[in-house]
Amino acid sequence: MSDLANLEARYGAENYAPLPVTIVRGEGIYLWDEAGRRYVDMMGAYSAVSFGHCHPRLVKALIEQAQRLDTISRAYFSDRLGPFLAKACALTGFDAALPMNSGAEAVETALKAARKWAYKVKGVPSDRAEIIAADGNFHGRTISIVGFSSVAQYRDGFGPFPLGFKLVPFGDASALAAAITPNTAAFLVEPIQGEGGINVPPPVYLAEVARICRANNVLLLCDEIQSGLGRTGRLLACQHEGVVPDGLMLGKALGGGLLPVSLFLARRELMQVFTPGDHGSTFGGNPIAAAVGLAALDTLIDERLVEHAATVGAHLLGRLSSIKNPIIREVRGCGLFAGVELHRNRANADTVVRRLLQAGVLTKDTHRNTIRFAPPLIIDESQIDWAVNRLTEVLEETAASTVQA
Ligand SMILES: *Cc1c(COP(=O)(O)O)cnc(C)c1O
Repeated sequence: MSDLANLEARYGAENYAPLPVTIVRGEGIYLWDEAGRRYVDMMGAYSAVSFGHCHPRLVKALIEQAQRLDTISRAYFSDRLGPFLAKACALTGFDAALPMNSGAEAVETALKAARKWAYKVKGVPSDRAEIIAADGNFHGRTISIVGFSSVAQYRDGFGPFPLGFKLVPFGDASALAAAITPNTAAFLVEPIQGEGGINVPPPVYLAEVARICRANNVLLLCDEIQSGLGRTGRLLACQHEGVVPDGLMLGKALGGGLLPVSLFLARRELMQVFTPGDHGSTFGGNPIAAAVGLAALDTLIDERLVEHAATVGAHLLGRLSSIKNPIIREVRGCGLFAGVELHRNRANADTVVRRLLQAGVLTKDTHRNTIRFAPPLIIDESQIDWAVNRLTEVLEETAASTVQA
């Protein structure tokens, strides 16, 4: 390990297991290590750097705002927050948006909104509201959120957990219908599960889910923190099925890769359950976050990145699907959001990811022995080809060494 990696390991908590590379610079789809070696970033910071690293327009927005006005808290109006929220609502079609910082905070906001709506509007008896989520979900790391994770490690040692959550299988709309009771406030779902392994549900699943929620007066809350803002080739992944949820969470790419910026968006009837003092965040919606978030949304539209992600995403999936190698179990994805699942008994995704690092491609494995690909949306077809060629070689190497072993 390098000195810097050792320093991080020596003084940090061991809640991550980074790959053995220390990154010192980034530009566009590229990252450089301390030895000056260049890598293609096929991971995109778990989808937080959709615009590429250090996008000049976003950096400019950040610097200019930082030189003019920093944090003022929400005790006052700012000249930045209104335009940011208005743009987010105009693009997504929602009436109102509540700014937070991390994705987990936006999800917590959605959960609080849904519960309060259940008591104040739907008429659920006090403290009886239920929220249904999906197996394999990832919505963040707070205690209430990991309390309904189906990943044992995320929960182990962190209980007791809040009550009022239950899980149904992802991709099974009838299981949702069967789980709904008169006390159900909401169904919380990722249109495509990211951390769970880039799991794409069967066609019309989300449309079915939306119909079931509406028929039962249950809110549909879509967590698009990872799948949103062009990642899947549509502005929102739920638009592939023409679904308009009652509540939406955005984060990750919304901060342009520069800052944590998240939003909970909703129709006015839902958002109005919040009254002054109910909920908040010191830094949520601060002028710098708002300036960067607005610049990120403008950049997404001006650079036509959603359309671009659809085109080059189809190319990526086409290239990944045509790799012929017996260690691949399945290729899944949509737009620039792809997972290559390996047969568990034939290869380890972590080993492949380490070999890819040596070949100059950065990515990371996720659940279900899957290698994820979520590059910046600005990537072009020749850059994708280069990365997929490296993957093809590494998979061949891995398959050969597995046979010998
Ligand atoms: C990353 C992620 C979150 C949590 O975001 P943080 O900013 O890490 O708190 C929530 N939901 C989904 C779908 C995510 O991918």
